[in-house]
Amino acid sequence: MWHVPKIREACGVIGMCSPGSVSDYLYFGLRILQHRGQESAGISVFEDGKHTIVKGMGLVHQVMDKDRLGHLKSNKGIGHVRYSTFGVSALQNVQPFVVQTTHGEVSLGHNGEIINAEALRTDLKKKGWAFMTSSDSEIIVRLLANELSTHGDPVKAIKNLMGIIVGSYSLVVMIGDRVFGVRDPYAIRPLCLGRLNDGWAVASESVVFDNLDGEFVRDVEGGEIVEVACDGPKSWKYPSPKEKAHCMFEWVYFARPDSIIEGGLVYEVRKRIGSKLAKEHPVDADVVIPIPDSGRAHALGFSEVSGIPYREGLMKNRYVERTFIMPDQRERETGVMLKLNAIKSEVIDKKVVLLDDSIIRGTTMKQIVQILRKAGAKEIHVRIGSPPVTAPCYLGIDMKTRHQFVALNRTVEEIANVITADSIGYLSLNGLIECIGVGDNNLCIGCLTGEYPIPIEGERVRFQKKIDAF
Ligand code: SF4
Repeated sequence: MWHVPKIREACGVIGMCSPGSVSDYLYFGLRILQHRGQESAGISVFEDGKHTIVKGMGLVHQVMDKDRLGHLKSNKGIGHVRYSTFGVSALQNVQPFVVQTTHGEVSLGHNGEIINAEALRTDLKKKGWAFMTSSDSEIIVRLLANELSTHGDPVKAIKNLMGIIVGSYSLVVMIGDRVFGVRDPYAIRPLCLGRLNDGWAVASESVVFDNLDGEFVRDVEGGEIVEVACDGPKSWKYPSPKEKAHCMFEWVYFARPDSIIEGGLVYEVRKRIGSKLAKEHPVDADVVIPIPDSGRAHALGFSEVSGIPYREGLMKNRYVERTFIMPDQRERETGVMLKLNAIKSEVIDKKVVLLDDSIIRGTTMKQIVQILRKAGAKEIHVRIGSPPVTAPCYLGIDMKTRHQFVALNRTVEEIANVITADSIGYLSLNGLIECIGVGDNNLCIGCLTGEYPIPIEGERVRFQKKIDAF
C-alpha cells in the first residue's frame, strides 16, 4: 500500500533486545512504521559475533522476506525505514549504516537532521576523512566510531557524539552486542520505550508495542541514552534544556493516529483540532468531508462540534504511485486525479466543508477541490488543521525552500483563489498549541513562525516573542 505524503523525510527506527529471535519483530515493527518512510528499509542484527545487515530500496516487505530473514536467530538488532534522497546514490544512503572499529562493529539508524552536518563534513575532510555518501547519518556513525575508538566505552562515546552534533536525532545504535536508543536534547523527533517479546525495545512510535502484543512504557526523554538490555533498560542523561521542541507535525500529520506521543493520543489531538477549527472558522454547510486518510480525525472533530454530518465523499486508490516523486508539476497533478475520486451522491448540490491537516504547495488541494466541483459540489470550504506553513524545516522534514509554500506572502482570500475554494480557514497557532497540550515552550513550530528552537544560520531563534505576536 502506498501512503501518499505531501511532505517527507520522517524516518522510522526500532531497536530491540529479547530472549527470542528479534528479526521477525524488527520486520513487523518496520512494517508498522512504514508510514514514516517508504523508499528504503533495513535491519542490522548481532549474529554469530558480527553485525548482519539486510537492507535495500523499497517497502519493508519488498526488501525483506523469509528467505532473507528466516535463518537469523539473533536476539539483538536495530531497524530503519526512510525516504531516501532521489537519485543515483540512493542505495548508498540506505540505513542502518555499519562501520568497523577496534571496539567492535557499530550499526546506526537515524531519524532527524543534523544542522551542522556540512560544517562537520568540511572540517573532517580537511583532517583527511573520506565519506561514502551525502548523508548526515554517515557523519554521525563515523564520529561515533571515532569516539568509540578513542574512549572504548560506548556510553561515553555516545555522550561525546551528542556534544558534537547539533539538530534533531532519534537514533538506534548497536555497538558490538549492545543496543541503544538516543534522543536529541530537544526531543524533536519521537522515540519511545516499551516491552516486546519478553525483552525491551525502543521505537519511533508507541503503536509498534500495541500491534506486536507488547507494552508501551514511556517516551525516551530529550537528551536520554537508553540501553535496551534483556534484563531491563539502563538510562543515562546528556545535559539538556528544560524546554523541549517536539515537532508539531508529528501530531498534525506524520504519526499514526493510534500512537501516543508525549502523553497525547494522536487521534484525540487531531479530533480536538477539528473541534477547534469548527469554533474558529464556522461555516454554513451540508457535509463535512475528510481528505483520506490524513483529514479523517480532524473531520470527525469538526462534525461533532458543528453538527454538520460527516461523510466519506472522497475515495482513495491506495495502489497508485506516490505523487511527490513525479518529476514535473503536470504529472504530479495527474497523480492526484488518479488516486482520489469523489462519491457523487455525497457531494452533488451540497455545500462541502473539506478537512485536511495542512497545506504545503497547494497543488494537491487545488486538484481535490476541482474533483469535488466536477462531482457537483455547490460550495467548497476548506478547513486546515494547522496554521499556514511559510518557512522551511531544517530538522528532518523535506520542506527546504520558501518559494514552494502557497501561504507565503498571500492572504487567506488569495490562497482560497489559488486552490479555487469558496473559503479557507486555518487553525490558529494558539489553537494548535492548546490542542496538542504540551505547552508552547515544548514545541517546535519553526515552519509556522520562521523561528527555530536551535540557532540556524540566517534564521531567527525561538522564544524571542510571545506566541500571540505571530
Ligand atoms: S520546522 Fe516544522 S516540520 Fe520541522 S521540526 Fe519544526 S515543526 Fe516540525
